Amino acid sequence: MSTAAPVTVIGLGLMGHALAETFLREGHPTTVWNRTAAKAEPLVAKGAALAGSVADAVTASPLVVVCVLDYDAVHALLDPVGDGDALDGRVLVNLTSGTSEGAREMAEWAARHGATYLDGAILTDPGGIGTADAVVLHSGPRAVFEAHESTLRLLGGATTHLGEDHGLASLYDVSVLGLMWGILNGFLQGAAVLGAAGVDASAFAPLASTSIRTVADWVGGYAEQIDKGEFPAPDATLDTHLASMDHLVHASESAGVSTEFPKFVKALAARSVADGHGAEGYAAMIELFRKPSGDRE
Ligand code: NAP
Repeated sequence: MSTAAPVTVIGLGLMGHALAETFLREGHPTTVWNRTAAKAEPLVAKGAALAGSVADAVTASPLVVVCVLDYDAVHALLDPVGDGDALDGRVLVNLTSGTSEGAREMAEWAARHGATYLDGAILTDPGGIGTADAVVLHSGPRAVFEAHESTLRLLGGATTHLGEDHGLASLYDVSVLGLMWGILNGFLQGAAVLGAAGVDASAFAPLASTSIRTVADWVGGYAEQIDKGEFPAPDATLDTHLASMDHLVHASESAGVSTEFPKFVKALAARSVADGHGAEGYAAMIELFRKPSGDRE
């Protein structure tokens, strides 16, 4: 007999399958449900119990993990169940990607139907689930997270509780994605410029990786500046950055590749310099990012 806590997983797409498989591997009695029931078969073969309905899935375990396409799909599945008392006393952990507003609304919905709610965001692909480095972010009542932490931590060694505000997991999620896209766009621009000179992207990759690590080391210091609202420039001023940005625009033009991204980066810095931040460090541009778009003084 397993002494591990029973868990239900609703949604057996690529990610939900990996979640359920991990709970099963770790010896948790695992109940599963999916709109397309056939996707449950490999998990049932490994010992999962297939619920006959969403209501049966919800009542099978005190801890119910949901991972489907989006929050509309979560509502489509759970709204009919909410009308009964199936959700009473359950802990609902929603690992579906979404917005902070969606998470807060979902928390209110769950509370109205007798469930406690944790919102979550997964920062790895399905293959990373269950590994030591996998990051799974949670937000919502800390006591609820701690009560189920040992089970939830099985999904990722770097599982973290961010705070009581249910919206935090999605806000961190999109912030990390934005960071990733910024870095990748810079890499692609470099690969295009160098590619036009006959340099393979693979030849650029080692220097690109080293440079990403160098910039990563600056983040802590810049974060302190942002929190203090002071932007000294012991390394390089925004004026200096702006001049170098011009070089990238020029190099891109000469290479005959897109100038869209470097011109956008340059335009941001030029606005910040025009606002009087030229002698300050790069983090002074936070003032621009904090203003709503089109709301310049
Ligand atoms: P997926 O393979 O496309 O699976 C989608 C799941 O949602 C399936 O179980 C599907 O059911 C279900 N679904 C979609 N619309 C539905 C509806 N209207 N009613 C009921 N069920 C519905 O996607 P996934 O990769 O598992 O992603 C699931 C969530 O994890 C998403 O929010 C995604 O952003 C997030 N995520 C994914 C990754 C990743 O690398 N895959 C990484 C981080 C976060 P059927 O099987 O019946 O179609």
